[in-house]
Amino acid sequence: VNKIDTSERIASPIERPQVTTDLSENVILTTVDDLYNWSRLSSLWPLLFGTACCFIEMAAMIGSRFDFDRFGLLPRASTRQADLLITAGTITMKMAPALVRLYEQMPEPKYVIAMGACTITGGMFSVDSPTAVRGVDKLIPVDIYLPGCPPRPEAVMDAIIKLRKKIANESMQERSKLNQTHRYYSTTHN
Ligand code: SF4
Repeated sequence: VNKIDTSERIASPIERPQVTTDLSENVILTTVDDLYNWSRLSSLWPLLFGTACCFIEMAAMIGSRFDFDRFGLLPRASTRQADLLITAGTITMKMAPALVRLYEQMPEPKYVIAMGACTITGGMFSVDSPTAVRGVDKLIPVDIYLPGCPPRPEAVMDAIIKLRKKIANESMQERSKLNQTHRYYSTTHN
């Protein structure tokens, strides 16, 4: 027979913990989050952006052999229609303001995959070259880092799947705070 533990005092209504007023824990909002996240991860539209040899692999991924359209990805030539930026290739100092401007032109919510050694650290240009940016995350916030020189199309797809998982667990409120807290280089501050 299970004994009832009477040693534990039953809290009076006055002593009960306060019901949280944090909206992020609200049941309705979390359900909306799920729907919102599902629609976003099912229709990521990457910007056609490439600065060096990594883009050759990204272009291969767009072809019929790898069929990345099955994830709902449609490459866009306009920043206004894109919500995913894959930085494919070396980012030079000269390219940096243009990259940031493109990023700023994309509507929220937007995501970034840093593709390749050059874009993540400067790669082989990180030793001697005075012109390569040593890490695109010094310019814009990065969601997924994809190392390699170059990463193969399968690896790019793997990065996209990881991004989809990340989006699936996101909160709308947390996401909206990201760009407010990330101190990235902004063309509007020049
Ligand atoms: Fe080219 Fe390699 Fe740099 Fe990619 S990581 S841009 S393949 S040198």
